[in-house]
Amino acid sequence: MKTLYRSTRETASHTMTSSQAVLQGLTPDGGLFVPVTLPTANFDFDQLATMSYQEVAYEVLKLFFTDYTADELHACIDAAYGDQFDDPQIAPVTKHGQQYYLELFHGPTIAFKDLALQILPHLMTTAVKKNHLQAEVVILAATSGDTGKAAMAGFANVDQTRIIVFYPKDGVSAIQKQQMVTQTGANTSVVAINGNFDEAQTTVKKLLNDHQLHAELATHQFQFSSANSINIGRLFPQVAYYVYTYAQLIKQGQIKNGDEINFSVPTGNFGDILAGYYAKQLGTPIHKLICASNRNNVLTDFFNTGTYDKNREFFLTSSPSMDILVSSNLERLLFYLTGSDATATAKLMTDLQTTGRYTITPAMRANLADFWAGFVTESQDQAEIHHLNHAHHYTIDPHTAVASAVAKQYQAATRDQRPMVVVSTASPYKFPQAVLTAITGELSAVDGLAAVDQLHELIQTPIPATVTALRTAPVRHKRVADVDDMGTTIKTILNLN
Ligand SMILES: *Cc1c(COP(=O)(O)O)cnc(C)c1O
Repeated sequence: MKTLYRSTRETASHTMTSSQAVLQGLTPDGGLFVPVTLPTANFDFDQLATMSYQEVAYEVLKLFFTDYTADELHACIDAAYGDQFDDPQIAPVTKHGQQYYLELFHGPTIAFKDLALQILPHLMTTAVKKNHLQAEVVILAATSGDTGKAAMAGFANVDQTRIIVFYPKDGVSAIQKQQMVTQTGANTSVVAINGNFDEAQTTVKKLLNDHQLHAELATHQFQFSSANSINIGRLFPQVAYYVYTYAQLIKQGQIKNGDEINFSVPTGNFGDILAGYYAKQLGTPIHKLICASNRNNVLTDFFNTGTYDKNREFFLTSSPSMDILVSSNLERLLFYLTGSDATATAKLMTDLQTTGRYTITPAMRANLADFWAGFVTESQDQAEIHHLNHAHHYTIDPHTAVASAVAKQYQAATRDQRPMVVVSTASPYKFPQAVLTAITGELSAVDGLAAVDQLHELIQTPIPATVTALRTAPVRHKRVADVDDMGTTIKTILNLN
């Protein structure tokens, strides 16, 4: 069966193949691509329990990317999940205290976005070839730190692609800046912006929609694309680690085939947890998906009241990748809650755009039973890091700690005894200052590599090789630009002038 894709906002059945949807990113009407009908999986989990991560990924991806051949998908998977991961299991599942931790930080940028962004470039270039396009794909990205670096690590040296990343000059952490300016790959460019993240992002969006610039690029055989988390080439590869986790728990003898488990997911843009929702729809025995937020708890309120309202104070927290007021992937869930009603979904999105809020119907709320939602304050987040370190000698990062703490809120509120898997989205070495502060109980004055060393002395777990490499990696990117000059800078980088 072929899986075709349609828009969340358009009733007219205008469909695309998976490779076309990967190239396109967003639908022409501004909605998101969803499968016209969900594929049927018929997973045999006892058999999946004998498989490697790559083999499980293939079983999942072949359901969603049906116009790719088996050889093409295997090639994408092999290129994405190889020895750039420092654990051969790619996504190992470990147990500490009463909870399981699904470690998604063993890739090149030591955060979970690698699971999606290592494979997206290969799905994209394969799509270019399949659709007989001549153009070179130019990825534009604005980043507050994590996504841009993970995208570059994925696209570096991938044929027929270029990637240009803009970051706020004084708006990223010391480690993140160092990761950015030392990025290798002849097709990568990094530009520091005299401005903040919002200005960089707004300008990138404007440039991606600039028809004149598109035309100019086209005459030079270039075509813009974006690597943001709404692309199906990022979303569906994430389903694989939910299926893999279930199979691994069987393999480890922790559960029997058919037992239900829960996942607690530190959530920002709602991409990661939505992949879990798809895993459940495909038949993975998942009881609840726990949507864990930091102080920016717009999703907690949505799940508990039925109203999404972004008109609220925005907080900077120690889990910055979850500091988000508009979770773009939530649109796909709304589509399912309406019973695949594109008109109703479009109406909610219009409400969001015009008033900053919307309220779902009681019937839609009744469909939210797969989820439970909660949030933690900064001090609760720190307490969770402290507790795991002291009681179980396991150190987690501030994003993972949000999910770990909210999982316990859920268990206290419901007395649900099912096995709980905390999705662990970053290495503690990515946020060493916050982790040091939480463990020692004293505000750490050091940051960057000095903080990495101090943390290492304290916890003894090996420093990831990608962090060690930063000590000697030469600076390759020194470009700085004003926000108003971003368009010109792109032309200079692509040699269009
Ligand atoms: C992006 C990110 C998240 C949030 O994931 P979403 O898919 O945006 O919900 C959580 N933790 C870390 C470390 C991240 O980088």
